Amino acid sequence: MARSWLEYKAPAWVQWCPGCGDFGILNAIYRAVAELDIPPERLVVVGGIGCSGRTTFYVKGSNAHALHGRAIPMATGIKLARPELTVIVAGGDGDLLGIGGGHFVALGRRNVDITVILFDNAVYGLTKGQAAPTLPAWIKTKALTSPNIHDNVNPVLLAFSAGYTFVARGYAYHTSQLKELIKTAVRHKGASFIDVLQPCPTYNNVMTNKWYEERIYYVGEDYDPIIRTREDFKEKLPAIMEKLLEFGDRIPLGILYWDQTKDSFEERLEKIMPGYMQAPPGTRRISVDGRPIVDPFEVFKDRVIVT
Ligand code: SF4
Repeated sequence: MARSWLEYKAPAWVQWCPGCGDFGILNAIYRAVAELDIPPERLVVVGGIGCSGRTTFYVKGSNAHALHGRAIPMATGIKLARPELTVIVAGGDGDLLGIGGGHFVALGRRNVDITVILFDNAVYGLTKGQAAPTLPAWIKTKALTSPNIHDNVNPVLLAFSAGYTFVARGYAYHTSQLKELIKTAVRHKGASFIDVLQPCPTYNNVMTNKWYEERIYYVGEDYDPIIRTREDFKEKLPAIMEKLLEFGDRIPLGILYWDQTKDSFEERLEKIMPGYMQAPPGTRRISVDGRPIVDPFEVFKDRVIVT
């Protein structure tokens, strides 16, 4: 029998503003991990700085709250040390695509088996609503003194070009559909990314629930984003690019790209370090009776520079 989502509800008081889209994402995470039957001690939610980072306090798991922009490298270290854990990154668009942008790209290149959930509200909510990387140009939200003159990052296109092998978009208030996307992303073996459009009712008074509901639609069954062979990729690329680029009067939701042909980073490591998956670094003994098994002075003796 599947676990109850209540098993994942931490006792912390949820401090988001009333009506915040974060509640929908949290709810979808609870239900997804419950239906996947992931024991809380084997679940790791890593968050960065921002309203979204507080997710780490609200989900029961072996979680970590990283420095600003550093959720992905911390999650990567955890996953490579203990590949049997389920690792989810919960971060905002400012955290993951601003200061953490380089790490976001690096995860795609590596295709580490981690799920990144982007809480995409286009503003820096925690610090009073400044323009974030996903705010389209010429939009003036209430905290800005003049319209935003930066062009926006397209998160799904960036994820695709960086090498993420599962790319999807969901909507925070559609928790059932989002739950299913999270379940599929977690099951996928490789770097998976979900851009979750999320109203921030306190600071983004332009991209509201009404604004999104007028634009969003789910890709139909006639759209096939699954890549099973290299020929598939060539054939389906034009349609996939069309969906990845579409953001304006119409915004597609659902699985936009799913490459099932690539090895994950863990599988690549296993190829160059046979036995890695059976004895990953996080499970190896490093000391006996308080004494390190490996003598670092011996390991580095040839590299010591005597001046
Ligand atoms: Fe949510 Fe915005 Fe409030 Fe942050 S500031 S909790 S994103 S509504």
